[in-house]
Amino acid sequence: MDKNFQEEFTQIIKFEPPLYRQRYQFVKDLVEKYKPKKVADLGCADCSLLWMLKFCRCIEVLAGLDICANIMKEKMHTLSPLPVDYFQPSERSLTVTLHHGSVAHKDPCMLGFDLVTCLELIEHLEESELKKFPEVVFGFMAPRIVVISTPNCEFNALLPGVKLYRHPDHKFEWSQAQFQSWALEIARCYDYSVEFTGVGQPPTGMEKIGFCTQIGVFVRKYPQTGESVQSEKPTEAVYKTVFKAVYPSLKDEKYLQNAVIREVIFTAQIIKHRLMSKREEYSDDPERKSKSQSSMDCFSDYLEKLVVEKNMEPFVSGNEVYIPLATIFSFPKVNRLCGTFEKLCKLIAGKVTLSSDGSAVMFNIEHENEEN
Ligand code: SAH
Repeated sequence: MDKNFQEEFTQIIKFEPPLYRQRYQFVKDLVEKYKPKKVADLGCADCSLLWMLKFCRCIEVLAGLDICANIMKEKMHTLSPLPVDYFQPSERSLTVTLHHGSVAHKDPCMLGFDLVTCLELIEHLEESELKKFPEVVFGFMAPRIVVISTPNCEFNALLPGVKLYRHPDHKFEWSQAQFQSWALEIARCYDYSVEFTGVGQPPTGMEKIGFCTQIGVFVRKYPQTGESVQSEKPTEAVYKTVFKAVYPSLKDEKYLQNAVIREVIFTAQIIKHRLMSKREEYSDDPERKSKSQSSMDCFSDYLEKLVVEKNMEPFVSGNEVYIPLATIFSFPKVNRLCGTFEKLCKLIAGKVTLSSDGSAVMFNIEHENEEN
């Protein structure tokens, strides 16, 4: 490479977005493409990638592994559920776990994953660990997809300030040919296909240098189910679990029940409000009439349709308003949450005030009448 040309580039090479973000985005795009349910990040460091992945709605199990417990603990609190997760539980379930241990050791908690990511990990491994790595990841864990990224040393000449390696803890940095022959041998041994790509484009005219970060995407050639792997591969647990968060989910009956109760009361309140407004229309107050009409038109149309079609009209009797459960169940959100009318009845039993025959939600409006 021409030295002047090289020096010129060392001044200006700066990746935007930064290279680590481009690597994370690469994984995110893979997740969008393959929709894995279970993802493990090996050498997860401060859990930044895991944090990003917890927002991918297809993922139900996220696990991180690192040999350094302290670095994992730095930001692991960011993986905990937020108040909003409790207030509005998601329809999917999500469990996030962090393990302290080495990729040179097998642990049954790493079985059954669909996607395993190893970003900028292998160059940190001692020779003995690197030797064991393929058997642990491809032989034992055997996920459907493995992503491995590592620095491409051919790019180093363009990076300002890089003498031998990009990081003092790196045990080696490989050229494209070195990485590819290592990866192809693994793919051959463990029956995977592998494709090479990367992030961090080389400058125009220097394409031969390759990407700044080289990436191998391995896809398992043979089918395998999580259960069969686990039963066939008994091993002792060697990793230490340092963090576990189970996110609130509507798949959990107690969160589903809360959500259904909230939605039933909310829907019943709206219906009641509409009913009371309707009654006001019969009074001689034209100002009130137009106010209530404008805010409730859409809702009234829907309700009117229901009532005509299914004879499920809410009614007032003395100081009580009755909203039939069948009417409430017809509302899309309640319907989607419960699935069946029987389930709705079961979930709200004893939690919502009902009419004596249990067919309607009941409100006492005595005090509301007084206020008016
Ligand atoms: N994957 C992260 C961090 C890369 S740095 C990212 O892309 O941002 C490499 C990480 O691998 C460090 O956190 C280091 O502690 C961890 N590591 C090194 N040797 C390891 C081993 N044998 N097993 C598991 N993790 C290891």
